[in-house]
Amino acid sequence: MQAEVIAVGTEILLGQVADTNSAYIARRLADAGIEVYYHSLVGDNATRLAALVNQARSRSDLVVISGGLGPTKDDLTKQTVAHLLGVKLVEDSAAMAKITAFFATTGRQMTPNNRLQALYLAGSRPLKNETGMAVGSFYRAPSGADVVLLPGPPSEMRPMMAHQAMPLIRAAYQRDEYLTSRVLRFFGIGESQLVTQLSDLIDHQTNPTIAPYAKRYEVTLRLTAKTTTAAAATQLLNQLEATIRERVGAYLYGYGDENSLASVVVHELIDRQLTITGAESLTAGEFQSTIGSVPGVSAVFPGGFVTYANRAKHTLLGIPQEIIDHDGVVSEATAQQMAERSRQLLDTDLALSFTGVAGPDSLEGHPAGTVWLGLAQRGQAPQAKLLHLTGNRADIRMRSVMAGLDWVRR
Ligand code: ATP
Ligand code: MG
Repeated sequence: MQAEVIAVGTEILLGQVADTNSAYIARRLADAGIEVYYHSLVGDNATRLAALVNQARSRSDLVVISGGLGPTKDDLTKQTVAHLLGVKLVEDSAAMAKITAFFATTGRQMTPNNRLQALYLAGSRPLKNETGMAVGSFYRAPSGADVVLLPGPPSEMRPMMAHQAMPLIRAAYQRDEYLTSRVLRFFGIGESQLVTQLSDLIDHQTNPTIAPYAKRYEVTLRLTAKTTTAAAATQLLNQLEATIRERVGAYLYGYGDENSLASVVVHELIDRQLTITGAESLTAGEFQSTIGSVPGVSAVFPGGFVTYANRAKHTLLGIPQEIIDHDGVVSEATAQQMAERSRQLLDTDLALSFTGVAGPDSLEGHPAGTVWLGLAQRGQAPQAKLLHLTGNRADIRMRSVMAGLDWVRR
C-alpha cells in the first residue's frame, strides 16, 4: 500500500502560500500506517495537472489531492480528474442545499458557477465539507489507483480529511495487521537527554517502535504498535508509555501532533475553573497572544498587561519606583511584583510575569537570556524563578513563554 499527495495551486507553486496541506495529509495517512512515497506540487493548469495525476496513479495505490475545488475559473481539479478517470460529475444534494441556504440567508446573488462546488466524481463517495461549501470525493477506481479530492483552504481540508476521508481510507486499506501511533509531547528536556534516558528502550525497540523528534522548543516521541486489534495496540502502547513515564514523566505534558503546551494549559485551567492574567516585559504580549490563540480561552483569561518600559511597569501596574531603582527590572522582586500586581488588578486566580533580557544587547549588566519568571497565586506569596535561556531574540522570548506555561502546568 503506497500513497502519494498532490497540492494544486499556482499560488503555492510560486511560493506565495506554503504547502501545509500535504504535510497534514501525510500525517493523517501515517497515523493509519499508510506509507507516503511522493509529494508533488502543480499549478492551476489542466494539462500539467492531468499529467501529474496520471503519473501518480501509475506508481501508487492512492492519490490524495488538495486544492481547486472552488467555484472560480482557476479551480479545475474536479473537472480534470473526472475527465481523466472517464467519469461524470454529479451533484450532491446535501451540499447543494447548503449552498442555496447560504445564498438565501446572506441575501447574496447565487451564480451558476456556485453550483460547481456541489459536484463530486460520479461513482465516488462524496465527502462532506463541515466548514465550507465545496464537496470532496473518495473515488475507488475499478482499476488503478484510488483518488481523494479535498478543498484547498486548510480550515476546510483538515476536518474533511480527518473526519470524512480517514474513516473510509482506514476501512478500505487497513489489513489484518495495522499500525497505531501515539505521540507523546515533552517540554523542558532536550532530545539528547530524553534519548539517553530511554536509550535501552530505543535500542531494543521492535514493537512498538519509538521515534524521537525534536521540534523547535520541545521534543516528541512517536510510539507505533503493529497489531491485529485496536485493543492489543492500546495495551502495548499503554505498557510502553508507563515505562517511559517512570523515567521522564515529569516532562510529559500532552499527546498528539496538534496539541501545543498552550492548549494543554488553557484546557486544564478551564477544567479547574482558574483564571489567569499576565504582565509582560521582554515578551511584550507573546504570552497573552499564545494563550489567546487557543479557542475557549476567554473563559479563563480576562486580559493582561504589556509593560515594556519602566514607566509602564510603574504607571500600569503600580510597581514602586524604589523596587525598580533598588533591584533593577531584571530581578526577583520585580518579577514577583509584576505577577502579584497584575493578579490583584484583574482579580484572577493566577498571574505570570516575564522580565528579562531578550538580547542581543545586555541589560543592567545581565547577558541576553537572563529571564525572571514570576508566578502569583491567590492566597499565596508570589514566587519567582531565574532562567538562563539560549538562542536569538525570538527564541528567548518564546522559550520564556513556554517556561511560564510549563510552570503553570506543574
Ligand atoms: P476556494 O473555494 O476557496 O477557491 P479551493 O478548493 O478552490 O477553494 P484553492 O482555490 O486551490 O482551493 O485554494 C484556496 C486557498 O487555500 C489558497 O489561496 C490557499 O490560501 C489555501 N491553500 C490551497 N492549497 C493549499 C495548500 N496545499 N497548503 C496550504 N494552503 C493551501
Ligand atoms: Mg479556489
